[in-house]
Amino acid sequence: MKRAYNFNAGPAALPLEVLQRAQEEIVDFKGIGMSIMEISHRSKEYEAVNDETQQLLLEHLELPSGYKVLFLQGGASTQFAMVPMNLLASGKVGSYVMTGSWAEKAYQEAQLIGETHIAASSQEGVLHIPALSEIQIPENAAYLHVTSNETIAGTQYQAFPDTGSIPLVADMSSDILSRRIDSSKFSLIYAGAQKNLGPSGVTVVVVKDDLLKETPKHLPTMLRYSTYIKNNSLYNTPPVYSIYMVNLVLKWIKEKGGIGAVEKLNREKTDLIYNALDNSGGFYEGMAQKDSRSIMNITFKLQTEELEKEFLAEAKKNGFVGLGGHRSVGHLRASTYNAVPYEACKALVDLMGEFQRKNG
Ligand SMILES: *Cc1c(COP(=O)(O)O)cnc(C)c1O
Repeated sequence: MKRAYNFNAGPAALPLEVLQRAQEEIVDFKGIGMSIMEISHRSKEYEAVNDETQQLLLEHLELPSGYKVLFLQGGASTQFAMVPMNLLASGKVGSYVMTGSWAEKAYQEAQLIGETHIAASSQEGVLHIPALSEIQIPENAAYLHVTSNETIAGTQYQAFPDTGSIPLVADMSSDILSRRIDSSKFSLIYAGAQKNLGPSGVTVVVVKDDLLKETPKHLPTMLRYSTYIKNNSLYNTPPVYSIYMVNLVLKWIKEKGGIGAVEKLNREKTDLIYNALDNSGGFYEGMAQKDSRSIMNITFKLQTEELEKEFLAEAKKNGFVGLGGHRSVGHLRASTYNAVPYEACKALVDLMGEFQRKNG
């Protein structure tokens, strides 16, 4: 078996050990003679997976008590609407830090629901995260929304703002559990699973209990966070298999030594690639401003479109996948999520060196 060097942006690489474990368990989950997909979501076997997955997430996020983990559907994109629907009361504003395409989408969706405000923005044409000192939060803010990692731009917050009594909300779809952070700063974190947590199909929401005291009564049942809290994410049929896969990924993280160990490896992986860009004498160029570089998505370019095409062709020939930039920005991008092995990053750097020798 030859596994690809998978640098896809999402859905993305999953740990080989996780895929193998899922394969072993697919026809007979824990001796029940059926797969986890074939049994009731109200069975004790599934409930154990549901509860353990919540527990593992809280543990990896190092959260104090008072937080709940919810499993939803509709992707992070549905959270762009659910956040303001549940939290943005009239007379208040949803305040957003504009850092790129994903922040923009969250903001646009909030505009459909209520009053919005821009707390800070990246400079036009520069891929960076604004300095925390630039963030202005109005007194009547219902929350401040940040996008912890801009998957398309390749930029990531290196520290998060202190918002005092104003709830801090984050879209962490592309960097949740990639590094140790003070998660207790956040009142609500959401993430589509398909980048760093598992397959698509489930969206994880981690929310502080006291945030939802005043949610509007008119909201449809399935669009209300409190429905998921009250029913332990079992109000209706959850995406059982996706949650099971997230469970395996969270156990894999634990076996690797936890988030600290995962972060260390992520930094080694990305240092390797960023150093290769910086030491190429301008042959390769990192696109994100250095102080905002992401350890999950590395955006870079070559001097001409022609060379980029050749590079992608060469990469493809050598078993690399997913190195084209997002269609909105072009150029190149390597996504180095938790499940991407160090060896794949090393192979990429070798390929880059070889390509430069031939074409530089
Ligand atoms: C991929 C991504 C999304 C969209 O996620 P879906 O689950 O496809 O809706 C939102 N935000 C960020 C930061 C992403 O990387």
